[in-house]
Amino acid sequence: MTNFNFIRTIAFSLLITLVACGKDTEIQLNKEYQGVDVELWSYFEKFEKEAAERGVKIDLAVAGITGTNEKIHAHGTVGLCNHRLDQPNHVIIDLNFWASASDNSKEMIIFHELGHCYLERSHNDNKKSDGTCASIMRSGRGGCIDFYNKANKAAYLDELYTAEESN
Ligand SMILES: [Zn+2]
Repeated sequence: MTNFNFIRTIAFSLLITLVACGKDTEIQLNKEYQGVDVELWSYFEKFEKEAAERGVKIDLAVAGITGTNEKIHAHGTVGLCNHRLDQPNHVIIDLNFWASASDNSKEMIIFHELGHCYLERSHNDNKKSDGTCASIMRSGRGGCIDFYNKANKAAYLDELYTAEESN
C-alpha cells in the first residue's frame, strides 16, 4: 500500500465512522419503535403523549410493545392484543380495516389494543344515558355505540388512563 492509499483508507474509515455516529444521533432524536410497523408509530407516540398530559409516564418502546398491520381472519375483528412467547404484548391491526378506516377509528382501535397490551385493561361495556359507550375498552359486543371523535375524545382518554378497574 502506498502512503497515499493508506491515508485515503484512513480518511474513508473516518468518514464512515462519522456518518455512522451521525445516524445514531438521528435515531435517538426521532422516536422509533422496534418490532412495530412504521405506519403505527405516530399512534404509539400519541398514546404516550396523551398519557403524559394526564400525568401517566409511558414508554412503549422500553416496555417492548410490538405491533403489525396484518390480515385478521376472525370475522368482525379489527384489532387484537396477542401474547406470543417471542412477542408477549403484540398489537395486530387488520389490513382491510386499515385501508378504509378514518384516523379517529384507527386511533381508537390502536389505543384500545394498547389498553389491553400495555395498561392491562379488560373490557368495559358500560353505557352512558344516550347509549354511547362509556369507555373505548368496550368489547364491541356489549350493545353500546362507539362515539369517539375530536369533541369527546378527551373524556374517553381520561377514562382510558385513569379509570379504576372494577373487574
Ligand atoms: Zn378488546
